[in-house]
Amino acid sequence: MFIGHYAVSFALKATQKKASLGLLFIGVQFIDLIFFSLTFFGIEKFNLIENYTESTHFQLEFMPYSHSLVAVLFWTLAIYLVLKGLTKKNKAPSEKITVTMAIALAVISHWCLDLVVHTPDLPLFIDNTHHFGFGLWNNALLTYLLEAILLVGGLWLYLKTTHESGINDTGISRYGMTIFVIVLLGLNVINIFGPLSVEDTPLSTAISAIIAYCVFAIIAYWLDKKRTRS
Ligand SMILES: [Zn+2]
Repeated sequence: MFIGHYAVSFALKATQKKASLGLLFIGVQFIDLIFFSLTFFGIEKFNLIENYTESTHFQLEFMPYSHSLVAVLFWTLAIYLVLKGLTKKNKAPSEKITVTMAIALAVISHWCLDLVVHTPDLPLFIDNTHHFGFGLWNNALLTYLLEAILLVGGLWLYLKTTHESGINDTGISRYGMTIFVIVLLGLNVINIFGPLSVEDTPLSTAISAIIAYCVFAIIAYWLDKKRTRS
């Protein structure tokens, strides 16, 4: 899954306003950021095969350290403990979800959503055994629709619970996030229905993915700052 993950970022931001939307954007793709980084060193591996499934050219060959359930639980706990160590105890009594918990939930949500779309390539354990995946990627239209519905639903929750700051009550604060989501929906048309380019290699794909995730997080952070005070 690609842009559908950001639905969770928006929903968590709607729940915990003090959590940075930029960090929530990084959080939901943290597992993929580890995966693509590990592919640089040959520790994890994917191949590009045109239309390997209807929705993706990725044949995800080896990714137990990023995408096994045990590894994801480990990364989630590690992020939670590091952030808890870095942040002060400032939980208000009314807060059901702390900022730290919101980021940790963003990290683990990645596996849950990947499970729906991946073909059985998500291992349960570090030893790369017991693979799972419900295989929605075999239907490109349904994959696109699911991601779009999730993302638009997340945006709706976000827009409902955040307000123009008043100071920056501009077109960007009003419509910026909606336009950003429309751009993401457009990019996902290319991502899901586009052909594999002859110039694409696993290395160039991994670099582009990491840059895209970081740029999306920066844009989300910036647009959110235009809209909220926190
Ligand atoms: Zn993933």
